[in-house]
Amino acid sequence: MLTVTDLSVSYGAINAVAGISFEIPQGGIVTLLGGNGAGKTTTLHTLSGLLRPKSGKITFCGEDITRLPSHEIVARGLGHVPEGRMVFANLSVAENLAMGAFLHHADKARTAEIRDHVFEIFPRLKERIKQTAGTLSGGEQQMLAIGRALMGRPKFLMLDEPSLGIAPRLITTIFEKIVEINRTQGITILLVEQNANLALEISTHGYVLETGHIVCSGPSAELRANPQLKAAYLGG
Ligand code: ATP
Repeated sequence: MLTVTDLSVSYGAINAVAGISFEIPQGGIVTLLGGNGAGKTTTLHTLSGLLRPKSGKITFCGEDITRLPSHEIVARGLGHVPEGRMVFANLSVAENLAMGAFLHHADKARTAEIRDHVFEIFPRLKERIKQTAGTLSGGEQQMLAIGRALMGRPKFLMLDEPSLGIAPRLITTIFEKIVEINRTQGITILLVEQNANLALEISTHGYVLETGHIVCSGPSAELRANPQLKAAYLGG
């Protein structure tokens, strides 16, 4: 579904991503692991068109999207749940979800159906439909950020550190929901995580990024058994 070839991204003189290549098969859950500053967020921002690569190619569903503007990338079905959730704090849950559907505002009936699906996945959002997003807990904001992305009808969803700053009990729920979204909606997932144990539990394949390079990749079960990865990312 998504093929990244020799992608490099710089901030001035800093090479944040240095010639990475990876593939994401349709229907899969793939995880991108790596410590602070490895280049994970930069990679996702580049896939979404928020950053321009210095070189390399991004192909989505057979089409070269490397230089497309963000709104055209979203329109092709590539959704992004950003790090830190970035919900509209002063807007209600309902308004945040409506913002996610802005490309489809003319199609009210289908948008209402998708919103019902979002409420089935996250009943808590329905309970808090009129509440201002800024007053939700961290976990609830993460649910809202995922729900808002689903309103844009993605075929492919990228999640940047969904466990960050969330109570452990809700982290388990969020990860179960990610699997549910993948299985029941058929949405392909790219998960960026520092919580490597959890990410490798739900993903089929993984890539490990270190200072802008992919240093290791393979089926998640193999990565979990890799002694060097265990020492570096999986708590020994
Ligand atoms: P984290 O998990 O800490 O968010 P990350 O793997 O997502 O890390 P990036 O945020 O992609 O890493 O950062 C990769 C590198 O690029 C880091 O060295 C970072 O300092 C640098 N970087 C990121 N954003 C900028 C920016 N706007 N200007 C300059 N350098 C940046």
